[in-house]
Amino acid sequence: MFSPINGFKNYSKQAIQAARYIGQGFIVTIDHMNRLPITIQYPYEKLIPSERFRGRIHFEFDKCIACEVCVRVCPINLPVVNWELKKTIKKKQLKSYSIDFGICIFCGNCVEYCPTNCLSMTEEYELSTYDRHELNYDQTALGRLPISVIEDPTIETLSNLISLSKGVMEGHSNLRNITLT
Ligand code: SF4
Ligand code: SF4
Repeated sequence: MFSPINGFKNYSKQAIQAARYIGQGFIVTIDHMNRLPITIQYPYEKLIPSERFRGRIHFEFDKCIACEVCVRVCPINLPVVNWELKKTIKKKQLKSYSIDFGICIFCGNCVEYCPTNCLSMTEEYELSTYDRHELNYDQTALGRLPISVIEDPTIETLSNLISLSKGVMEGHSNLRNITLT
């Protein structure tokens, strides 16, 4: 049978539970107030890519021997190597070279296996365009040196949070550094 004492006990229990949940919520909020923001104000702020970042590929036309190793090791046979055989010197002569970054998965296999090191991965990651056909880079586009975010005076660069030492998080330069517990 329902008694007022049991009802009061239940009500008290629920009130204590609710207060505990509210307290836990406040603790989480206070904990996050002590942290720096992870998001950045792109494009006015940019992260400095890590040393091993795999961005747009750079190609040196003069060093390429048209061996097509890059095509064979590419999971999708992507690089297009156009060459002709020079019978007088009995050597291949490179005519054109292209990589479509609309398809490339930036695995780095071509860079890894190129025997003459004419391919390298840059820190360039801003490849967006309105027309996907513009992502098909020929040897001229591939030969352009990347623009480092550090050299751009209009951009505020931020350290890559992932590349920092364990427990240290250096966020926006105008904010203080904190050490995570
Ligand atoms: S592997 Fe290197 S040298 Fe050979 S075709 Fe590709 S880019 Fe040229
Ligand atoms: S990075 Fe990978 S997917 Fe892109 S061209 Fe090289 S081997 Fe192919």
